[in-house]
Amino acid sequence: MYMGSRVSLGLKGCAVGVSLLLASRGAIAQQVLNLGPLPGVGQVTEILEPGTGQGFSGLATIYMGQPVIFYDNVWVQYFGGLGSPGFRFIRAHEYAHHFRGHVLAQLSSPPQMLPTLGYNAELDADCAAVRYLRRAGDPVAIQAGYQIYQTIVPPQDMNGRPGSIVRINNMKGC
Ligand SMILES: [Zn+2]
Repeated sequence: MYMGSRVSLGLKGCAVGVSLLLASRGAIAQQVLNLGPLPGVGQVTEILEPGTGQGFSGLATIYMGQPVIFYDNVWVQYFGGLGSPGFRFIRAHEYAHHFRGHVLAQLSSPPQMLPTLGYNAELDADCAAVRYLRRAGDPVAIQAGYQIYQTIVPPQDMNGRPGSIVRINNMKGC
């Protein structure tokens, strides 16, 4: 399993809370997630944005001077919700940006678009996520990562970001 049962229960609670809010309002406010640390890695503040489904799915930043990961709720729902294999991949990837010392965008307001991180930082974060998920015994999340890239990332490199062909080849070598 990917996490201990206590953490899984927490994730389930969160997902239920979010879907109830979605059902009643049609949109949600910004929400600080309470997922606990990424086991064996550490804790970064994680914020779920109502989102647009057009820019980032997850984004590692320095926000008001603190390490923060933003998630776009439209993408998170598309991947299957908080705690889903796709979310676990994105989460491991964003944690890798923080814990592998990548240069991150400094923001003072919630992100509106996708700041470009380094090309090699993206590949490094993918590789670190694959290695982490393999160690954590979560191959389903790695498979979900392949699927996400095949589905939402253009095949060729674009705007300084690696395309899905490069990303998936890189991940298979990690
Ligand atoms: Zn990234």
